[in-house]
Amino acid sequence: MNHLLTVKDVYAGYIKGLYILQGINFHINPGELVAVIGPNGAGKSTLAKAIFGLLTPSSGEINFKGESIGGLKPNEIVQRGMCYVPQISNVFAALSVEENLEMGGFICKGSLNALKDKIYTMFPVLAQRRRQKAGTLSGGERQMLGMGRALMLDPDLLILDEPSAALSPLLVNSVFEQIQAINQTGKAIILVEQNARKALEMADRGYVLENGVDRATGSGKELLDNPKIGELYLGVAYQKES
Ligand code: ADP
Ligand code: MG
Repeated sequence: MNHLLTVKDVYAGYIKGLYILQGINFHINPGELVAVIGPNGAGKSTLAKAIFGLLTPSSGEINFKGESIGGLKPNEIVQRGMCYVPQISNVFAALSVEENLEMGGFICKGSLNALKDKIYTMFPVLAQRRRQKAGTLSGGERQMLGMGRALMLDPDLLILDEPSAALSPLLVNSVFEQIQAINQTGKAIILVEQNARKALEMADRGYVLENGVDRATGSGKELLDNPKIGELYLGVAYQKES
């Protein structure tokens, strides 16, 4: 199968000569849900930014739908069917929920109303709050709006950077359910998460990042069952057999 997205031997960083991503390899297939986990500072957000064109790789290749996108700008990448919801500041606080969705759909060719209705059906709470300023939403509602805004473009690939950060456990569950529901509509999702166990439980596959490289990869279950990963990232203490 042709991968939807392939990242091959990518080096990238914020300062010339200082690489945060140090030869990283990654791929996602159409319709897959892939979790990216790893400690703080491992380069998870940097990988997301490099894929979405917010950072230009110094070397290596990024291919999306069979074409190189390394060096393209986010607005060009969006047009090809990829959306990104950043870790923070993912909504326009001063705009209403409805205006946020309309901003998300600004390059849409089809009917904005039909798209908005689809998002409101998926996230009924956004429909209730459509006239409210996004800045007044709760953390969970903001995450839903951030995802809804990205979905206005009907992307084939959605990149979510820590959608569960700073949410209460109850909201974490509901945001994760929404992510699964979006995935079930056929959209591939890259899910960057601190909440490693939950992310791996629902992912088809996962990657463990460490110091800017893909340290381990496998199915969600394989990574969950891997004692080393359990000890390092899942808060599981494995007892040695005597
Ligand atoms: P993660 O998302 O896995 O926690 P990041 O990709 O955000 O990690 O960060 C990886 C490294 O890149 C860290 O050492 C961080 O300090 C550095 N970094 C992140 N953003 C910037 C930036 N805008 N400028 C310079 N360094 C940055
Ligand atoms: Mg991050």
